[in-house]
Amino acid sequence: MSSRTSDVLVIGGGVIGLVTAWRAAQRGLATAVVDPEPGGGAAQVAAGMLAAVTELHYGEETLLALNLESARRYPGFAAELTELTGHDLGYRRCGTLAVALDADDRAHLRDLHALQQRSGLASEWLSGRECRRLEPMLAPGVRGGLRVDGDHQIDPRRLAAALVAACERTGVVFHRAWAERLDVAGDRATGVTTADGTALRAGQVVLAAGSLSGRLAGVPGELLPPVRPVKGQVLRLAVPPRYAPFLSRTVRAVVRGGQVYLVPRENGELVVGATSEELGWDTTVTAGGVYELLRDAHELVPGITELPLTETRAGLRPCSPDNAPLLGPSGLAGLLLATGHHRNGVLLTPVTGDVLAHALATGELPQEARPFTPRRFGAALGEKLEQPA
Ligand SMILES: Cc1cc2nc3c(=O)[nH]c(=O)nc-3n(C[C@H](O)[C@H](O)[C@H](O)COP(=O)(O)OP(=O)(O)OC[C@H]3O[C@@H](n4cnc5c(N)ncnc54)[C@H](O)[C@@H]3O)c2cc1C
Repeated sequence: MSSRTSDVLVIGGGVIGLVTAWRAAQRGLATAVVDPEPGGGAAQVAAGMLAAVTELHYGEETLLALNLESARRYPGFAAELTELTGHDLGYRRCGTLAVALDADDRAHLRDLHALQQRSGLASEWLSGRECRRLEPMLAPGVRGGLRVDGDHQIDPRRLAAALVAACERTGVVFHRAWAERLDVAGDRATGVTTADGTALRAGQVVLAAGSLSGRLAGVPGELLPPVRPVKGQVLRLAVPPRYAPFLSRTVRAVVRGGQVYLVPRENGELVVGATSEELGWDTTVTAGGVYELLRDAHELVPGITELPLTETRAGLRPCSPDNAPLLGPSGLAGLLLATGHHRNGVLLTPVTGDVLAHALATGELPQEARPFTPRRFGAALGEKLEQPA
């Protein structure tokens, strides 16, 4: 059995694991990532809305603060990543329009507006006519909407590719393999063993395995993070040049209780999402899922049926019991968590990288991450962070 050593080993090369590895390496830590396909994961499916304000839900005000903090960091983060790698991230500061199609949706949106105002967030109520003036492709029946100029978008596939490149440039080592189990010696995590029997040793290990984070063998049962998969189906369409600009910003609505959104990319791609299904690790694209998305999107923007449908895909959101991420030390010395980002993982990428790298380098979890320690789900899950040697 061969063995390789680093200061930090990150299990999982989705956007969360990659940004953690990149930021840790920038701080001078010898860092490795273990993942058979770094840059894959949920980012290959996600819409990439950076929607701190329109994703606000009752009872999630603590998460709002972290979402806003990450949104605030996005311009600098995107600029730094592009400068380092030369990658265009498709970061588009286009704003969002959340609209209502009937009286129930309108009441729901009015409530959301009131909550946003109480939370000090910038959003403006528009009449149906004002919505259509902004976005002429909207259905004539739109009853009103919320204009949120601060909710932007990024292309998550490009983001993931850029993070792989940033890691490579910063000296992160990739082990393109499956971590079969976490290895523990005495009372501390020491690394992982991969599927081919290689032992990867590290001073600190970060579990960032997305929706699989709660299933890694070797993690003591009471310490497994309570993360489950929530399936989302997404469609991609192409806007031919003769229809451009089809939409100038993200348009979203709640239709019959389900969320639907249309995210227009600068390159002509239009992303339509997403279902939310509790079906374990199933990623089948179903006729029902595609039908519902097209039906609801068509109600919002009837012209959508003219566009070529280029891709259908399903992915898994890593979801925790309170929909917020688990960040920082676990109850096992040497093991930190960066998982459970659910529907905001792309938005939370910058702040996650910053806080995890800080914790890895200094032994301290920054203030903004403290409400998100794993310990909130039980004393056993936190907290064994030490000063690094
Ligand atoms: C349909 C859909 C729409 C979304 N829309 C948005 C959006 O608009 N805005 C937003 O902010 N977020 C959105 N998200 C959420 C976002 O995509 C996720 O929160 C984020 O991508 C999670 O990243 P992650 O790195 O934690 O996990 P993942 O992307 O799941 O990556 C985990 C990685 O770990 C690897 N791995 C797992 N187990 C092991 C192991 N044992 N050994 C080695 N490697 C392992 C996997 O191969 C994978 O590459 C959406 C998600 C979905 C599914």
